[in-house]
Amino acid sequence: MRVTLWGTRGSLPAAGPETVRYGGNTACVEVRGADGSLIVLDGGTGIRRLGATLGAELSRLDILLTHLHMDHIQGLGFFRLLYQPDLEVHIWGPSSITFGLGARLARYLSPPLFPVRIRDLPSRLTLHDVPRGSFMIGGFKVIADLVCHPGPTFGYRITEDGMSVAYLPDHEPALGVRQFPGDPDWTSGFDLASGASLLIHDAQYHATEYADHVGWGHSSIPHALDFAAAAGVERLVTFHHDPAHDDSVLDQLFDEAMGTSDLPFELVPGMEGASFQLGG
Ligand SMILES: [Zn+2]
Ligand SMILES: [Zn+2]
Repeated sequence: MRVTLWGTRGSLPAAGPETVRYGGNTACVEVRGADGSLIVLDGGTGIRRLGATLGAELSRLDILLTHLHMDHIQGLGFFRLLYQPDLEVHIWGPSSITFGLGARLARYLSPPLFPVRIRDLPSRLTLHDVPRGSFMIGGFKVIADLVCHPGPTFGYRITEDGMSVAYLPDHEPALGVRQFPGDPDWTSGFDLASGASLLIHDAQYHATEYADHVGWGHSSIPHALDFAAAAGVERLVTFHHDPAHDDSVLDQLFDEAMGTSDLPFELVPGMEGASFQLGG
């Protein structure tokens, strides 16, 4: 399995000369199976560049949306493959109490916010309300579970050949708990991340910034480190960078995190374009 980051920014695209290394595009991650099958995690603005690399070799494509905040769906209308006739595309994402995924996504993919209606897209599109629990997509085992973030929000764990990537881009597991990290049974997202080969996790705020953003649905970098350590992951990739953090700020934050004594995992800065090979 190969995992590639196409968008690492949180909340809002942050394009400019000051963000070229970590990237300005919002959340999108490509997961490639050994047989070439493809899962795309989130449809932030990074999905446009991913689309430009994909050719006619695909017969099926699955997009897993964590939730429907704009930074996770804004690129969908600009994803070339949704306009490819006869391509089988499956979009999976959370329903709400009152609406299924199709009705929720159509609020963005319709005028006046977007000129093309979702039902008029040329690809053979199927929308799925994500079930909690595990299901198969081709050779991938997917586990989906609700995590702590405003509105219905899923985290995902994808496993192939014994290697797992856990994807928790928008996640505030420290919210409302007296001590963090605490009991694994009561920690949001713990089972999804437990023992993962690679954890891609929200690291939006410096510890001092978090104090003013409690309840906004995101983690401080120390929270991300503590969560990864408790879950026993092999590698942590920082993700969902705050749009106000330019490359030099992110370098400083990363250096500070690396200085944390005895990290029991490999810490990797989430940079647009980075790619990770898991297993053969
Ligand atoms: Zn987000
Ligand atoms: Zn969000």
